Amino acid sequence: AEKIRLEAVTKTFEVRDGGTFTALEDVTLDVAPGEFLVVVGPSGCGKSTLLDLVSGLTKPTGGRILLDGAPVTGPALDRGIVFQQYALLPWRTALRNIEFALEAQPRLDRLSRKNRVERAREYLDLVGLSGFEDRYPHELSGGMRQRVAIARALVADPAVLLMDEPFAALDAQTREQLQEELLRIWHKTGTTVVFITHGIDEAVYLGQRVAVMTSRPGRIKQVVEVPLGDRQA
Ligand code: ADP
Ligand code: ADP
Repeated sequence: AEKIRLEAVTKTFEVRDGGTFTALEDVTLDVAPGEFLVVVGPSGCGKSTLLDLVSGLTKPTGGRILLDGAPVTGPALDRGIVFQQYALLPWRTALRNIEFALEAQPRLDRLSRKNRVERAREYLDLVGLSGFEDRYPHELSGGMRQRVAIARALVADPAVLLMDEPFAALDAQTREQLQEELLRIWHKTGTTVVFITHGIDEAVYLGQRVAVMTSRPGRIKQVVEVPLGDRQA
């Protein structure tokens, strides 16, 4: 039972002059439960488009996307998303940003406010930010903000964590820290991760498998297994 399955997925955009542009063509891919899959490729090859499709933010023009066998029909809490820009709510503290993901969710509605706060605090701890619950995003460093974004993505216990170049805006040292942290969290939570990057080093460092894309049209050229190194032991 695959966790995510893309079946001959094509995405064509309408462009000006009534023309079309095919961003993804005939992409087939399976991601196993608990797997850490990285998608790598040059700028413009369709990586974000692929992630938007899996997240349900956009619909494929051809083929289909299944999550645990069920077609993806729109955005839902079973997919936690982390973008390059943190997209935190500036008027909410770190804790309340994480809690936000637990509000107004049918599946989690029955959590009392107290339980939501408790759970949000747990995930703040998970990303190493105990003591920072009352800080606003502008009071946190870039790395810390991205930790909050990761906690927010995970707090509702999604089946899949989708990450679109989450560390690209960070300096090299912070990026390395966050990579380590992410692997630790992945081991601890057992969540399926689809991670997008244009950096081959990052891809090979993080991924159990790396899907290599080419552009025009966006396609998966090959999927490479990365031998387990120390990092993933
Ligand atoms: P990547 O994430 O690999 O850099 P994207 O998925 O963002 O690539 O984009 C793939 C291609 O699709 C690019 O050429 C981009 O210009 C095009 N594209 C993305 N979104 C749209 C859209 N809404 N309308 C038209 N073209 C788009
Ligand atoms: P980084 O890229 O290292 O994560 P930024 O460049 O975004 O950090 O951070 C800007 C500055 O904010 C850094 O000098 C950092 O030391 C500082 N900073 C980090 N944490 C806090 C905090 N909780 N409150 C205020 N400033 C902080």
